Amino acid sequence: MPGIDEFLRLRELASMLSQASAASEAHEDELNRLRKREATRAETLTILDAFKFEHRTLASRLNDIEHQLSQRLVAETQARLEDEGLALLMRQQEIDRAADEARTFLGGYDKTLTELRVEIDANLAQARLRRDEALARAAALREDLPADWREKFDRVLAKKLAHGPFSRLTNTRCHFCQHAVSKVFESEVDVLLQLKACPGCGRLLLPHKVVAG
Ligand SMILES: [Zn+2]
Repeated sequence: MPGIDEFLRLRELASMLSQASAASEAHEDELNRLRKREATRAETLTILDAFKFEHRTLASRLNDIEHQLSQRLVAETQARLEDEGLALLMRQQEIDRAADEARTFLGGYDKTLTELRVEIDANLAQARLRRDEALARAAALREDLPADWREKFDRVLAKKLAHGPFSRLTNTRCHFCQHAVSKVFESEVDVLLQLKACPGCGRLLLPHKVVAG
């Protein structure tokens, strides 16, 4: 007949499963960190390409202007072309400065990205190991549970209840949802150590001996 040990096993099983899912989340977070970094790098490369393109366009327009200025022009046209040429030159300088900055940033960034990738790889491996260990322990614990306990546990787990799959009774009420049960029901849980679900919230009820440790 199942007893305290089974309840302890059940509780450990739940804790292993939540450790496994925390490790999976940590794994996903690390991957996102890497993806974000790589996205920033790709963005910077796109910006650099745009600078290069604009630089070429400006250079070709400046060539045109220079060519026109070498010819005889009415004063008004000459002044207009000179103004335009000056504005284009200033913009070109601006772009060159920004491109230099982007290249410097990228140089440093590539270095940190390489270092970061090493760190992230280590964290990923660690998270995978934690998850696999927790899952292996969970599988072993499951094996040792009575079949009907496994079914009850799976059923409550499938509900993905906030704050976990367990509750307990205090003065014939579910500690969690306050659903009232009979004295008989309570002693089936606390004295006979039967695995029962709260009729209100569906959480599995741990006997007092287990909750008290
Ligand atoms: Zn309840």
